[in-house]
Amino acid sequence: MPAVRFQTGETVMGRWPGSNLYYEVTVLTFDPKTQLYTVIYKDGTELELKETDVKSVTGFKQGLGRSRSRSRSRSPARSRRSRSRSPARTTRRSSSRTSEAQRVKLKEVVQVRLTPVAMPLENNSNNKQEKEDNNTASKANQKAEEEPEQKPTVRYNLRRRKDQSDGQPLELAEAILPQAAPQETSTPASLECGGSFGALFLMLLLPLLVLALLTLCGQKDSSLLSLALWPCPFHSLWDWHVFGIVLLWILFHAVLSLLPIGKVVEGMPLKNGKTLKYRINGFFALFLSAVAVGTAVYNEVDLTYIHTRFLQFYTSALLVSVLLSIYLFIRSRWAADHERSPAGNSGYVIYDFFMGRELNPRIKNFDIKFFCEMRPGLIGWLVINFAMLLAEMKHQNLASPSSAMLLINGFQLLWVADGLWHEEKLLTMMDIVYDGFGFMLAFGDLVWVPFTFTCQSYYLVNHPNDLSEYWIIAIVLLNAIGYYIFRKANSEKFAFRRNPHDPALSYLKTIPTATGKSLIVSGLWGFVRHPNYLGDLLMALAWSLSCGFNHAVPYFYLVYLLVLLVHREARDEQQCRVKYGPAWDEYCRAVRYRILPGLY
Ligand code: NDP
Repeated sequence: MPAVRFQTGETVMGRWPGSNLYYEVTVLTFDPKTQLYTVIYKDGTELELKETDVKSVTGFKQGLGRSRSRSRSRSPARSRRSRSRSPARTTRRSSSRTSEAQRVKLKEVVQVRLTPVAMPLENNSNNKQEKEDNNTASKANQKAEEEPEQKPTVRYNLRRRKDQSDGQPLELAEAILPQAAPQETSTPASLECGGSFGALFLMLLLPLLVLALLTLCGQKDSSLLSLALWPCPFHSLWDWHVFGIVLLWILFHAVLSLLPIGKVVEGMPLKNGKTLKYRINGFFALFLSAVAVGTAVYNEVDLTYIHTRFLQFYTSALLVSVLLSIYLFIRSRWAADHERSPAGNSGYVIYDFFMGRELNPRIKNFDIKFFCEMRPGLIGWLVINFAMLLAEMKHQNLASPSSAMLLINGFQLLWVADGLWHEEKLLTMMDIVYDGFGFMLAFGDLVWVPFTFTCQSYYLVNHPNDLSEYWIIAIVLLNAIGYYIFRKANSEKFAFRRNPHDPALSYLKTIPTATGKSLIVSGLWGFVRHPNYLGDLLMALAWSLSCGFNHAVPYFYLVYLLVLLVHREARDEQQCRVKYGPAWDEYCRAVRYRILPGLY
């Protein structure tokens, strides 16, 4: 019978299930039958851990040292990271075996210790109150170590491990643990969207769905029952002239994005620690596009052509997105390891084609993903809206657009202009930081955004809607509230992430986490866990309401956004739970609802 490696009462390092976080734990028992150690964490949590999840304290530190030097040597395995769906457990006596399938292969390891704090919330760290809290925390820590029997009554939180000698925080230890077998690809368990089959299904379904939506929006009878099985003759879907216009539009924006106008900012650090530079001139591109469209209208260019040939514009954009995805997939073969996305390198061709293998594909300084996310589709959305406004007047013989059409144009112009004004903030979003650039984003940016987000204005061409003054006021108010929540929440979080010590943010209450970052737990972020999503949804509701209640089609965007944001929230929640462990649970306890207060 093999000897027991760790003895009862011994202090060892135990892995927190579902993460690569290790804590000091004490061995309680060992079960030879199941080969599991029962260990107790400093906060009193008991777990059963497999031997591979337990390390001796000295062995762990040596492993960490070794791994640190290895990480500097740019080991290829280091820069791969797969996403885990496993929540950090907080219940007593759960088994590490149950989380085995969900175990992440994170290469970044953060060594932390549990530090008791008197209060779970802290004020912003430049704040006097926080310093007092910290003093309280360290006193409580000392006391807890002296009086272990009081543990159950002490509340613990995660703090970054401090260097005892100078009181400075240690750098996060990035390491490859000896037992964390290098995993070159995502495991099938971590595949999203139903894996290869789901990806293939979506790639076939989404283009058909958009076609069906456009067909419904474009016809007089927009009821779902009126949709023919094969909506339009094949030849009406293609026009080389239109394809040329689409290419010219993309080229026009590519040139604008390369102009040496606007500041250059750094993106988030990549896996190799370096950052990419981005030129921020989206708002300028919007302005020049408005000038170009204005000039065209002044010179009697008939923009309603876009309405007449809308399906051809759609198929042209679809073809561009497919060709772009093929190009991206081929070029990703030569992408260095640190340039690959964690999500799109499963080894399954269809899945990787869909998710995108390369994180930030670039041709010299031209960042293809950033460009597609913010320029041709987003600004194209506004141009299409404007073309629909002109088409409504033309087809309905109106001297001025319907009030609904004006509201839709105004609201969506605000949304896009706001996004371009805050273009820099996109650099911290999941799409840029985490997602590869493949069919999913290429189709989303070049097809989905300009052709489904315009469904309300397209619908209004045949269904002009004049709203009463009360309705207009109510809808404008709803959009304004949504916008306020959306903007304030996003700006507050962005400013806090940029500089958590900003005196202007000292009013915020926060929860510290093991990573050194804190989570805002007051104001809008204390109201629901995703106030920015709530604001976005309120705006989407205002847009849909503008189109009245005669048909369901104009509510497509609202339903889509709801599904998208609920899914996105779940995805983000999983990532945050892995990233922040018990601190995230603390946040969830403090802020109960995710998006809709009282409901969800
Ligand atoms: P968020 O801006 O909400 O980003 C989530 C990240 O914020 C988390 O991973 C975490 O990252 C950080 N975070 C979460 N909670 C807190 C907290 N309490 N305190 C501090 N940081 C926190 O999500 P998205 O990037 O998905 O969305 C950004 C905006 O874009 C939203 O307004 C959304 O509505 C909009 N959007 C709109 C779409 C559309 O089609 N209309 C599509 C997608 C997004 P970390 O801690 O690492 O900083």
